[in-house]
Amino acid sequence: MKKALTYINILFFLCFFTTLAWAQTKVYISVDMEGVTGAVSGAQLGPSGFEYQRFREFMTEEVLAAIRGARAAGATEFLVSDSHGNGQNLLIDRFEKDVQIVRSWPRPLGMMGGLDESFDAAIFIGYHTSTANTRGVRAHTFSSATLTDVRLNGTSVSEAGFNAAIAGHFGVPIVMVSGDDAIVEETRAYVGDVEGAIVKWATSFHSARTLTPAAGCDVIEAAARRAIERVGELEPFRLTGDIELEISFKNYRQAEILSYLSSVERIDSHSIRYVAKDMVEASMFAQFVNNYQPGLSP
Ligand SMILES: [Zn+2]
Repeated sequence: MKKALTYINILFFLCFFTTLAWAQTKVYISVDMEGVTGAVSGAQLGPSGFEYQRFREFMTEEVLAAIRGARAAGATEFLVSDSHGNGQNLLIDRFEKDVQIVRSWPRPLGMMGGLDESFDAAIFIGYHTSTANTRGVRAHTFSSATLTDVRLNGTSVSEAGFNAAIAGHFGVPIVMVSGDDAIVEETRAYVGDVEGAIVKWATSFHSARTLTPAAGCDVIEAAARRAIERVGELEPFRLTGDIELEISFKNYRQAEILSYLSSVERIDSHSIRYVAKDMVEASMFAQFVNNYQPGLSP
């Protein structure tokens, strides 16, 4: 009897350690561009900017650095979402063959397109502060041209905050954010004690003291490694119950016309409220508001 028990114990430990060895750690990486090392103005951020092609390379290098750091801590699978501008910034031939990339728009989950409950952690690279923050390079939420505030349950949120809540819906914790000092601070204040990779220090909306791209990658790689080592410790950022999503527009007419919908309440001249049953519905509403135009083609 005693001997049988010992065999069972040995079998149990063998199974346990084999499972550990085979455990997959699946990481989702959402990538924006305003928070990339050195990016400070439109000259780096879109196809018409004179530095854009160089900054696509720097952006790609930062994701590769995050993947290196995460792999060093045991991450095995990666989905990267190119979530800036046209969604086609990352140089996809630079990635290893086991990495997949989400490109272009529209996507129901926006900057979190492709995320589901199978992921163990999410990382934000190149992020920037919210439109409600007085600090931060290129501070805006979703659209600097059209929106002046986005609130979840009464609190102004950055894209990092909004996207952390989407990840929380799927039970996925945000473990790291990179960008300027202000977005690391804003994300920690809203989401909790995530790893932060500060690659520049905001001086103003269009100015920063920055690391070099190579030094920025070192900071990101180290932070990603620490972040994946902490996966078991960091909780998903969950908003429970109905989600009150409020959006304030720079102009008057969006709020006026959206309030024609019975599901939308106009709360002041420039703002509307929509109550969603969860963050997926809130995300889809925000995507609709930001993307719908009657003249879309094809
Ligand atoms: Zn952004």
